[in-house]
Amino acid sequence: MAVTDAVVIGSGPNGLVAANLLADHGWAVTVLEAQDAPGGAVRSDSEVHPDFVHDTFSSFYPLAAASPTIRALELDRHGLEWMHAPAVAGTPFLAGEWAVMHRTPEETAASLDALAPGDGQAWLDLCAGWRKVGDAAIRALLEPFPPVRAGVRLATRLPGAGGLGFVQMLLAPLQSMAGTRFSGRGAQMLLAGNAAHADIPMDASGSTIMAWVLAMIGQHLGYPVPRGGAGMLSGAMVRRFTAGGGDLRVGTHARRVIVRDGRAVAVETDDGEVFTARRAVLADVSAPSLFGGLVAEQDLPARLVRRMERFEWDPGTVKVDYALSGPVPWEVTPAQTPGTVHIAESIDEIRMSGAHLAAGAVPAVPFLLVGQMAAADPGRAPEGAESLWLYTHVPHHTTHDAGDGSISGRWDRDDVERMADRMQARIEAYAPGFEGRILARRTLGPRELEARNENLVGGSVNGGTANLHQQLVFRPVPGLGRAETPVAGLYLASASAHPGGGVHGACGSNAARAAVAHDRVRSFIPTRRKDPIP
Ligand SMILES: Cc1cc2nc3c(=O)[nH]c(=O)nc-3n(C[C@H](O)[C@H](O)[C@H](O)COP(=O)(O)OP(=O)(O)OC[C@H]3O[C@@H](n4cnc5c(N)ncnc54)[C@H](O)[C@@H]3O)c2cc1C
Repeated sequence: MAVTDAVVIGSGPNGLVAANLLADHGWAVTVLEAQDAPGGAVRSDSEVHPDFVHDTFSSFYPLAAASPTIRALELDRHGLEWMHAPAVAGTPFLAGEWAVMHRTPEETAASLDALAPGDGQAWLDLCAGWRKVGDAAIRALLEPFPPVRAGVRLATRLPGAGGLGFVQMLLAPLQSMAGTRFSGRGAQMLLAGNAAHADIPMDASGSTIMAWVLAMIGQHLGYPVPRGGAGMLSGAMVRRFTAGGGDLRVGTHARRVIVRDGRAVAVETDDGEVFTARRAVLADVSAPSLFGGLVAEQDLPARLVRRMERFEWDPGTVKVDYALSGPVPWEVTPAQTPGTVHIAESIDEIRMSGAHLAAGAVPAVPFLLVGQMAAADPGRAPEGAESLWLYTHVPHHTTHDAGDGSISGRWDRDDVERMADRMQARIEAYAPGFEGRILARRTLGPRELEARNENLVGGSVNGGTANLHQQLVFRPVPGLGRAETPVAGLYLASASAHPGGGVHGACGSNAARAAVAHDRVRSFIPTRRKDPIP
């Protein structure tokens, strides 16, 4: 039996941030990771083609670059180097134009004005608002809810950004906000492409906040990628942790959190090994896994168990990775290649594909997120070649295929390949000759994603829906809302906790800070020490 101060279950970015912060406090920390490699959804590999590096899951890290917690880890001292594509993000249109977010607001504004005069100034107005409140907004979003200090800072700066009018803009659905402020679809799509990284419908409140935060971070910090692959980001976190004496066990699946007298005291693995946690257990696992298996039902309030039954996942995902012999042969090549590309002709098209998902239909015209990784980091592919990925969302429970009817929704190999073909055909329409450049292709459907990381249930990428009814005090269920759980000494540290998906480390940092704060309080309360394991 191993004894340590804290056990962290799962080595995704949130688990690794938590482990680093606890180790910085002088705690002895053991991280248990089910997979054979650490990193969670921040990993890379050379499975597609031995001469190429592909990110297995996530790729672009604007939220990490903006996160005060991740910045404070100084990962550059542990091998992390950020790289940037010539342009941040873009959307091609079948008519042959591109909307491109450049590295500065002024360049972006000039290119938007060329598409629709006046949109450049409207873009600069958005950026001006960000300069006033962006920093405070990031802190307020990433702090535990309610964000008291950051909230006050944000409130005092709001008048400078436009006061109530600005707040109203943020609360408006993206479809109406973008439609009233921008006359051209270029600027509209730069915002909508970002909003579509979450599953908030374009005609729902919350979509503008998502678009504004991601687009403005992209505009001011870019969408950086780690030199050498996503695995270099998690690798830097691992190196920082183990260099300080942290203990990481890969290939070690946790099956039970042992609770005694209402307190989490240890974690048992599939092999029956028990890791005693003197101070805390932090779970970088999905909320349904923590409260629906890892912790026994009798150790949880009945109300929590009932509420977890209504937990909502975000949609599933099909991801396709390509080794290409050359760059994507876009019909019109933008002067500066964007790393991130969003494929949709209009906000309405994204709204339709979201409506299909909501109705359980496989989208006929899938909205595509695309990563041109060698454009950002040439070392990911042989000279002149491209390491590309596409992904799109699919329903968990399929009612029908809104396309040609060929996809059953079982998401077996056949379904995944057909969906990949549908996605590939979309790219071919924008980039004739694309198929001729394919050296190798890998398809990862909902089942394959979950097999590589059990937090990605059915291919969900965000640890649960990002819609308002499951955010803030409602995440993961009403009554939790913070990292603390009803079991003393047990903290939810994954993207299922506030503030949700994305590589910002806030869920891990909130859990670690809560654990340290409670431990301090506990150390003042005299208790009779018992053997923690029954
Ligand atoms: C395809 C895809 C693309 C994405 N793109 C981006 C992007 O470009 N930018 C961005 O910011 N975000 C992106 N995301 C989202 C982002 O990757 C996640 O929100 C983030 O990784 C969540 O971190 P986490 O630490 O909460 O969990 P995860 O990264 O999911 O890690 C959880 C870890 O816990 C382990 N684990 C689970 N249960 C157990 C157990 N019982 N015992 C032991 N170990 C366990 C898992 O094996 C896994 O390693 C993407 C996600 C996916 C899937």
